[in-house]
Amino acid sequence: MSFLQRDAVLAQGSYYAATAPELASLPPLQGAVSADVVIVGGGLAGLSAALDLAERGHQVVLLEAQTLGHAASGRNGGHALHGLACDIALVQQQLGDEAARSVWAMTIEALALLRTRIERHHIDCDWQGGYLNLATSPAKAHALWEWADALERLTGDALPRIATDEVRQWIASPRFHGGLRDPRCGHLHPLKYLRGLARAARAAGVQIHEYSPALGWVPQGGGVRVSTARGHVRAGQLLLAGSGHLHAYAPAMAHATVGIAMGAAGSDVALETADVALMGDDLTRLPFVIGLSRSTNRIIRQNLYVSLGVVAVLLPATIFGLGIGPAVLAHEGSTLIVVFNALRLLGYRDR
Ligand SMILES: Cc1cc2nc3c(=O)[nH]c(=O)nc-3n(C[C@H](O)[C@H](O)[C@H](O)COP(=O)(O)OP(=O)(O)OC[C@H]3O[C@@H](n4cnc5c(N)ncnc54)[C@H](O)[C@@H]3O)c2cc1C
Repeated sequence: MSFLQRDAVLAQGSYYAATAPELASLPPLQGAVSADVVIVGGGLAGLSAALDLAERGHQVVLLEAQTLGHAASGRNGGHALHGLACDIALVQQQLGDEAARSVWAMTIEALALLRTRIERHHIDCDWQGGYLNLATSPAKAHALWEWADALERLTGDALPRIATDEVRQWIASPRFHGGLRDPRCGHLHPLKYLRGLARAARAAGVQIHEYSPALGWVPQGGGVRVSTARGHVRAGQLLLAGSGHLHAYAPAMAHATVGIAMGAAGSDVALETADVALMGDDLTRLPFVIGLSRSTNRIIRQNLYVSLGVVAVLLPATIFGLGIGPAVLAHEGSTLIVVFNALRLLGYRDR
């Protein structure tokens, strides 16, 4: 069974789809249209970027191969947390203190952006604020507090500690021996949030087409032309936000992107997604990969900073993409922007 077939099975009848208000179906692309930016992918990265760009006054067309949010963005765990999928210590080790501080700060900024969007666009997505990180043994509690001390030394961010005798104030269970909490984090219904973003993007003028897989792109007249089965978009800039699925729909496009592997610990699906992101790529072309699995970490070491001639500095995705605009790599002098789920637009320059 192919990746897309397996994914289609996973996508059927999710809890989130059963409990989110419907979003009216958006027609496939027919014929020729033009825009300032064409975005490929209607997950959180694509929709966040579309909304950001439209709010800055750009004309945006977004192409989604299936329905908005049918992939991970509409059926993930809904946890909106500080930090990356991997420990910040790994980032520090591999990129240095300054970059690790920036990454952490972006993840905190991302949480604020998420809340701002929910409020500004009145997105009813069952937001529950607050996050406890609890230890199941005294030794683990000490390890957690040591981790928090190291984080504070690095970033100045002091996460509130929960002492052993305070645990019951937070959770009525005898199993835990202390921990940390972060009121900035929280939980939401991912599909309700995504559909709220889509409504906001449409209200801001974004033209969205579902069931419109982008099949390829060619440079044209200082811009790009992106083709689907029944039409094409001409735009000044192209933004790829197709995640691991891009490879399945448009292998040639996927080769233009930068792989990023982020896996939640113990999650086969996430690791599989990470593998898909890497699958088929010539690894020497991947400038930046972040991940949790042993094999991925090995790949990080092998590929870090291998340059594609890309000009903008890349800092990686965070809180798994929730509420976050994408990080962008821009080819100097060309129109290609490569994007994946990350914090915010970096290096995007208005023309
Ligand atoms: C099991 C699981 C649990 C997770 N839990 C959490 C969590 O609790 N908290 C958290 O923050 N993150 C979580 N994540 C991660 C999070 O869901 C992803 O990081 C995020 O959704 C990625 O968003 P995206 O827009 O980059 O990609 P996607 O959601 O994969 O969206 C990409 C979209 O692009 C479309 N596409 C691809 N190619 C084309 C093409 N050629 N033409 C048109 N469209 C195309 C696809 O159809 C798809 O809709 C989880 C992920 C998984 C797998």
